[in-house]
Amino acid sequence: MAYILVLDQGTTSSRATVYNEKGEKIALEQQEFEQYYPKPGWWEQDPMDIVNTVITTSKTALKKAGVKAEDVDAVGITNQRETTVIWDKETGVPVHNAIVWGCRRTADICKDLIADTRSPMVNEKTGLVIDATYSASKIRWLFENVEGLKERADKGELLFGTIDTWLIYNLTNKKVHATDYSNASRTMLFNVKKGEWDKDLLEYVGVPEGILPVVKPSVGYFGDTDASIYGAPIKITGVAGDQHAALFGQACFDDGDAKNTYGTSNVPMMYIGNNPIQSDKGLLSLAWEMDDEISYCMGASILTTGSAVQWLRDKVHIINNAAESEEMAKSVEDTMGVYFVPAFSGLAAPHWDMDARGMIIGLTAGVTDAHIARATLESIAYQTRDLIDEIEKESGVKLKVLKVDGGATVNNYLLQFQADILNCVVERPTDIETTSLGAAYMAGLGVGVWKSTDELKAIWKCDKRFTPQMDEETREELYAGWKRAVAFSRGWLDPNKKLDY
Ligand code: ADP
Repeated sequence: MAYILVLDQGTTSSRATVYNEKGEKIALEQQEFEQYYPKPGWWEQDPMDIVNTVITTSKTALKKAGVKAEDVDAVGITNQRETTVIWDKETGVPVHNAIVWGCRRTADICKDLIADTRSPMVNEKTGLVIDATYSASKIRWLFENVEGLKERADKGELLFGTIDTWLIYNLTNKKVHATDYSNASRTMLFNVKKGEWDKDLLEYVGVPEGILPVVKPSVGYFGDTDASIYGAPIKITGVAGDQHAALFGQACFDDGDAKNTYGTSNVPMMYIGNNPIQSDKGLLSLAWEMDDEISYCMGASILTTGSAVQWLRDKVHIINNAAESEEMAKSVEDTMGVYFVPAFSGLAAPHWDMDARGMIIGLTAGVTDAHIARATLESIAYQTRDLIDEIEKESGVKLKVLKVDGGATVNNYLLQFQADILNCVVERPTDIETTSLGAAYMAGLGVGVWKSTDELKAIWKCDKRFTPQMDEETREELYAGWKRAVAFSRGWLDPNKKLDY
């Protein structure tokens, strides 16, 4: 039997999972770690906590599985993306806490970057729209705010890494300074079309090339874990950022295969093959690099989805627990014409309206809490369609299947409505921990446990398939109502906005 150890380093916790050669989970261990918020909008983590929780959980997972390091064929790594660490090349000691992806301290740096006449090249080269999320502005902030750092970086005394790189460096006992294509693509310094660090971008942001890791294929050999960690060296052969790994773990290998993660937010992504298209809206992503080919996907985050269900539970007390939303939705025939646009913090892709605010519209005297619960679930599906429609339009690729994961996918009503409103099959796998599974698939391919993505498609197991049941007329009528509701919610924060609906 072959075994694969996956290290899934997430934003709030580190998880380690042991898989067998059938892609089945044998053991899992998870540990949360401390988050630091030194000022409003700032967010940090201790890089040593990250390494320590990864090592502790993975040792425990191996023990629980009863598997020795000698019997593990490969390690796969997947991680929170963009989070930035800089450390001393000699000692390996970080020069600052990790600056987490969601930290907003570099908003002003981003404004400066946008004001620079060279800024249009960012979207062309990286597929991204300039934002504080990506590593580039975080590196620049460290240079501008930590005494002597830029000089040390210029002298070649420092190394930079996203979390994958930081883990590989520590797991290989400082021997390997590398990242994979998917993580590199989230730094805003990587040319996703050419597949290399971009000299123009480095100059524009002010980053010396010497601190950057070597970029390796997501599926392939990165190095060996140091024997002192698990008792024997293990090859690291698969690395990808969390969303990329989830797409891989859903076996989305054909144009039009998509995944959608239903958590606090939703993250839909569609595989579009080897041609990067130009997306001004920042929907293009590099998916991974494998067999000398870069694959691309398109997607973005939908800000408020599962959190709207939490709002029903915690703020307006319409439900006692998330699962109740399903019973309530099914207890009524429709929403009685009610739409809920949960734009609590504006609307992201494809609407990009940060002045929009949440709105429940279409209320009449007969409307009950059940109708509102139903409208809340439906809003998750409608928002997903908004984004998928935009992706189809920009890419010219038609959605083939939507494979789902995340906490809210236990809700069958939601998934059936999703299939209906998209007019597309929705599939829920037996293992919804697809991020870890994707890293296992990658590492297994990298070491030869599996030979091809076709083999992975065969072991990917569907738990439940939802096929569209709604007639075309109803679907388009409902969706047209949603679009009108969105139009009404737009620009709410702007008192001068013309009401031109
Ligand atoms: P995250 O990883 O973003 O923290 P999870 O994948 O754990 O999120 O999913 C949790 C989210 O799913 C919560 O926002 C919750 O409201 C929602 N959720 C959980 N169960 C259900 C359900 N049965 N119906 C609808 N939403 C649900």
